[in-house]
Amino acid sequence: MFVALGSNLGDRETSLAAAIAALRRTRRVRVLAVSPVYETDPVGPPPQGPYLNAVVRLRTSLPPRALLERLQAIETAAGRTRGGERNAARTLDLDILFYGDAKIHEPGLAVPHPRLHERAFVLEPLCDLAPDRVHPTLHARVDVLARRVRNPAAVRRRDP
Ligand code: ADP
Ligand code: MG
Repeated sequence: MFVALGSNLGDRETSLAAAIAALRRTRRVRVLAVSPVYETDPVGPPPQGPYLNAVVRLRTSLPPRALLERLQAIETAAGRTRGGERNAARTLDLDILFYGDAKIHEPGLAVPHPRLHERAFVLEPLCDLAPDRVHPTLHARVDVLARRVRNPAAVRRRDP
C-alpha cells in the first residue's frame, strides 16, 4: 500500500514527521519505506503557501476502510479541520494511493486515488519508492506516469 502525505499549514515538517510516527505506532500497520520530501507549489485557490509532500509504503492487515479511518484520525490529531473546500490549505492530508491492486469505488473511498496520475507532487515521491509499480486501472508504470506530469519548477526535492 502507498499513502501520500501533504502539509501546507503550520509546522509542515513536524506534521509530516508526526504522521509517520503515528503510522509506525498503528497496530496492524508496518511502515516499510518513506520517500524523500518535496516542496511543491499549491494547486488550490490562493492565498495558500507551498506544500511539503512525501509518500510512504506500508504493509497492513487493516481493510481499506479501517485504514482510511485511521488516516483521518491522524489528520485530526495534527490539527486538521474538515468541512472546507477541496484543495484548501491543511495541516495534514493523508490519501490512500494504492491498496495492493484493489479497485474500490465506494462513497468516500476511491482507490487507486482518482487524481494521482495528474499530480506531480504525488508521482515524484511515489516514483522514488516504486518506479516499476503498475497502476491497476491505467496499466501504466509509475515512472511513465511521473514523466508525463514532471515539473521540476513546481515540485522541488528537498535535500535529505
Ligand atoms: P482532498 O484530499 O481531495 O483534498 P480531503 O482530504 O478533504 O480532500 O478528502 C475528502 C474525502 O476524500 C475524504 O473524506 C475521504 O472520504 C475521501 N476519499 C476518497 N478516496 C480517498 C482516498 N483514496 N484516500 C483518502 N481519502 C479519500
Ligand atoms: Mg485527502
